[in-house]
Amino acid sequence: MSDLRELYQEMILDHCKRPRNFHNLPDANRAADGFNRLCGDKLRVFVKLDDGIIKDIAFEGDGCCISKASSSMMTEALKGKTLDEAHKLFQQFHEVLTGPPDETPDAPELGKLAVFAGVREFPVRVKCATLAWHTLEAALKDEQKPVTTE
Ligand code: ZN
Repeated sequence: MSDLRELYQEMILDHCKRPRNFHNLPDANRAADGFNRLCGDKLRVFVKLDDGIIKDIAFEGDGCCISKASSSMMTEALKGKTLDEAHKLFQQFHEVLTGPPDETPDAPELGKLAVFAGVREFPVRVKCATLAWHTLEAALKDEQKPVTTE
């Protein structure tokens, strides 16, 4: 678990300092806002959905390192995925975040996202890590209401 912890810290810092897909998406046909009151994380997720496939995805906003890194890595992981695949990844991601701390996650599909198992040690941060995903789900459902993590 200690290798995972190091990797976790490295990746979070990297994606926090240089978030990927961190911009507006003018030709997005789905978007939603997310807000994590607990921490103050605020973000907007843009999706260009075409024939059930996430052709492009980006985000804007401001928040703690974990929320930014999670958004950044989510957009990387989901580009080109189908809606079904996206939902499945979210489920697995959520399981990794909330699983027992002494267990290494067994979810090869998650790839790099598995490093978020490090968040298990900080339960209050789980909402920071899942905010982008909840916001994405709202965007895909085309809900107009802002999302909160409460
Ligand atoms: Zn946060």
